[in-house]
Amino acid sequence: MEPSPAGADPLTDGFHLVIDALKLNDVTTIYGLVGIPITDLARLAQASGIRYIGFRHESNAGHAAAAAGFLTRKPGVCLTVSGPGFLNGMVALANATVNCFPMVHIAGSSTRAIVDLQRGDYEELDQLAVARPVAKASYRIDRIEDIGRGIARAIRTAVAGRPGGVYLDIPGDVLAQTIGAAAGAATLWKVVDPAPRQTPAPDAITRAVEMLSGAERPLMVLGKGAAYAQADDAIRTFVEASGIPFVPMSMAKGLVPDDHPLCVSAARSLALSRADVVLLVGARLNWLLHHGDGPQWSDTAQFLQIDIEPTEFDSNQPISVPLAGDIGSTVEALNRALDGRPVNCPAAWHDELNSRREHNVASMSARLAEDPRPMHFYNALRPIREFVEAHPDVYLVNEGANALDVTRNVVEMAVPRHRLDSGTWGVMGIGLGYAIAAAVETGQPVIAVEGDSAFGFSAMEIETICRYGLPVIIVVLNNGGVYRGDEINPLGDAPAPTVLSAGARHERLIEAFGGAGYHVESPDELAAALDAAVRSRRPTLIDCGLDSAAGTESGHLTSLNPRSSLQE
Ligand code: ADP
Repeated sequence: MEPSPAGADPLTDGFHLVIDALKLNDVTTIYGLVGIPITDLARLAQASGIRYIGFRHESNAGHAAAAAGFLTRKPGVCLTVSGPGFLNGMVALANATVNCFPMVHIAGSSTRAIVDLQRGDYEELDQLAVARPVAKASYRIDRIEDIGRGIARAIRTAVAGRPGGVYLDIPGDVLAQTIGAAAGAATLWKVVDPAPRQTPAPDAITRAVEMLSGAERPLMVLGKGAAYAQADDAIRTFVEASGIPFVPMSMAKGLVPDDHPLCVSAARSLALSRADVVLLVGARLNWLLHHGDGPQWSDTAQFLQIDIEPTEFDSNQPISVPLAGDIGSTVEALNRALDGRPVNCPAAWHDELNSRREHNVASMSARLAEDPRPMHFYNALRPIREFVEAHPDVYLVNEGANALDVTRNVVEMAVPRHRLDSGTWGVMGIGLGYAIAAAVETGQPVIAVEGDSAFGFSAMEIETICRYGLPVIIVVLNNGGVYRGDEINPLGDAPAPTVLSAGARHERLIEAFGGAGYHVESPDELAAALDAAVRSRRPTLIDCGLDSAAGTESGHLTSLNPRSSLQE
């Protein structure tokens, strides 16, 4: 804020009003990458006490903001430059929207009068139009008087109802505009109750209890919407009071601990295919649940669904009992309706699930006990499983193909919202952005279990991790390829499409920035490196040498990967 030329009437400008509006709305951290026209915005935000985390690529800053949104239930804020920097952030904005994570992507932009007539400005792009199809909503602030309104609108839209990614465009000349400080302050406001609670009507709750009580083989599916809702106690009470077995989707693992007697993840296929009444709690019947269809589900299964977004109902299957509301309020209403009485859940159903679970747990133990050299995925993951079990507060970030699928099955979670992964899109590149956000937002150590291909998408952020001294341990499961590293190009004149550099020593990358690097070739060496890393809290990268033949094409998604029938 500066004195006006007259010396009496202080002025403020767009930069300061944006920061004041963010702070008024409890934004404490910005994830970004500076440049024209937002460098001063980042600098002034930091000077005002907002924590600024500067990234090496906007996509990773955006992913960090999205993960912060998931972890905190408040919109994570990402700040980028105009044009290409803005575009680099679009995968993250779209991914946040698809995953229902609240975030606000603020980008500076070029002068409207020049962009709109396509006169060729620096980084000219109609950013609002580009963001619209991939964001939950997109807004532009065209005059300094609207900064408070624009920030309030973006925050409200990101978290209210189904959360998502909001784009907020601020042209550089609006940031530079000035206004009287008192008049400017009067244009700002704090959003009251950003995500109002919503409870379904009592008759919907009654219908739900009736349908669950009449089930022969009820099942609950907990999704990441349930984890996001932070209704942990109510959900656990409902699981235990109802006695209904449950399967968690990957980012809902730990919401009720994976070793809970009612958790039937280890009998997932049987549970899905045999359940007659299925309660979806913050989980969509999308591809991850086979659209509620096909051989994976019973033809006669009936679905109940708790979701904040009513248009989700009937998107794939008839929803017999739609429960439109927030998960906390809805599950509390169900708890009141049950009043401590378990629903009818025949012992035969529990027995069927338990015997399959025991069988599958025994097979998994046998697999984990195998000890091939070079390592394969299962024996490399054994010490990671033990590490997470011994340190339940550590956050686990996970991406890759086999690295994702096998880790999800092998590593059990005991605490809510401690697993972040490729999510609804199965996207690659979230790894280090999510890891940075988890470390920044929680102060806890983070372990990022990465396929070597997936790691490459955000690898340069190891410099960010080292610069901020974050307690992030990156484990690269290195089989030297996309899926695996042993494919041979029959012409022999170039590497095959799935092949990466054999025997790459990724740990040397982190050493360049002052972090600790390890290369391991056995589970014992991996366990020792993990132990040293968590004790030191130093940024660490552990390169795990795996057999180049370990892994399958597309991991567990082989069926989604069309193959040409015309090959030799
Ligand atoms: P998963 O991939 O774990 O199955 P999805 O992302 O498919 O989970 O589903 C999450 C669902 O949760 C979305 O349909 C979203 O609308 C819903 N949701 C998110 N937050 C809440 C909330 N607070 N209350 C109710 N539903 C929510």
